[in-house]
Amino acid sequence: MGKRYLIVGSGLFGSVCARELTDAGHSCQVIEKRDHIGGNCYTRKIEEAGCHEHVYGPHIFHTNSTELWNYIRRFTEFNHFSYRPRVNFKGSYYSFPINLMTLNQLWGVVTPEAAKAKLAEVREDIPDPANLEEWCLSQVGRELYETFVRGYTAKQWHHDPKDLPASLIKRLPIRLRYDDNYFNDQYQGIPKEGYTKIFERMLEGIPVEFGVDFLEDRDSWLEKFDHVIYTGSPDSFFGYSEGPLEYRSLRFERELLDTPDFQGVAAVNYTEEQIPYTRIVEHKHFDLSFSKEKTLITKEYPSDWKLGDIEFYPVNTGENQAVFAKYKSLMKEMEGKVVFGGRLGEYRYYDMHQVIAAALKRLKVLLG
Ligand code: UDP
Repeated sequence: MGKRYLIVGSGLFGSVCARELTDAGHSCQVIEKRDHIGGNCYTRKIEEAGCHEHVYGPHIFHTNSTELWNYIRRFTEFNHFSYRPRVNFKGSYYSFPINLMTLNQLWGVVTPEAAKAKLAEVREDIPDPANLEEWCLSQVGRELYETFVRGYTAKQWHHDPKDLPASLIKRLPIRLRYDDNYFNDQYQGIPKEGYTKIFERMLEGIPVEFGVDFLEDRDSWLEKFDHVIYTGSPDSFFGYSEGPLEYRSLRFERELLDTPDFQGVAAVNYTEEQIPYTRIVEHKHFDLSFSKEKTLITKEYPSDWKLGDIEFYPVNTGENQAVFAKYKSLMKEMEGKVVFGGRLGEYRYYDMHQVIAAALKRLKVLLG
């Protein structure tokens, strides 16, 4: 017999669950606090600039898994975009993520052998790096750390890199080849029709109610449905009983400019601490669309999260993980009734493909 599921949040985790549960014969109702589907993946068409705006920051789909790549392509077609941002540090432009071109620009080295030798010279001898700063110094030395990492990371996380885990930066490759692709994955691209279309197709035939805050009526929602898939933050679900978890938020400053191409690339990272934004994104480059006379750019300002703001990133310090561990035991008590999932629900710095993988894994258990 089909069960009645309430899905709280129409981001990737919620939408994948809604689709799969519906296809398996269950009935799903989605509620969404905002006035649109897609969570932070949401895009909208900007006709004047001939592109889709990544309203909550750039999203580049990438995965190494053929299964996940085939899964997402059930809902959309991708272009051949690959992410190759540049860094602006004190007005100079650099190839990024750190690769042989970056080292050539900084030090004039040309071959992989020369780069290896130079890195061996500048690397600091830290046998057991305990944090993000020490890890960088042990891998690439002080100059590269100061140029590309320290300022950006301090702005992004509002923590001294000495207090942050190295896992945050290990997401990025360091290559001694002339390869500036941000990702190592074999599949990568941007949905040709924007991300929102993916969600429209995933949620086809499933009722979605907008402007509904689950937490205002938590207990009656829990009563009305057999199961709840909750994709919001765990601390808010439990009324912050174990204290607040820390998040980072973002503020976006967008400008529609009277020029066909502002910066010649999808993203330029501003790695100096004195410049308050971390990057400027030019949306038309994601769509590989350059026909229009105008362009849309967004400056991304990291900001401290406060109640009511959108949570963008969990802050994975040891202290926050300790608070999350307390919520985890509360979440365990709700097992069988509530599934907590997604970047917020699991308090993990997930990429999109990891969210889909996590959802499909949970669904396997739910659907037996
Ligand atoms: N990072 C950096 N300099 C850059 C870009 C990234 O130091 O120019 C570091 C920073 O600590 C950041 C982390 O690498 O938080 C991960 O970056 P990523 O681009 O994966 O962040 P996202 O796109 O998820 O915001």
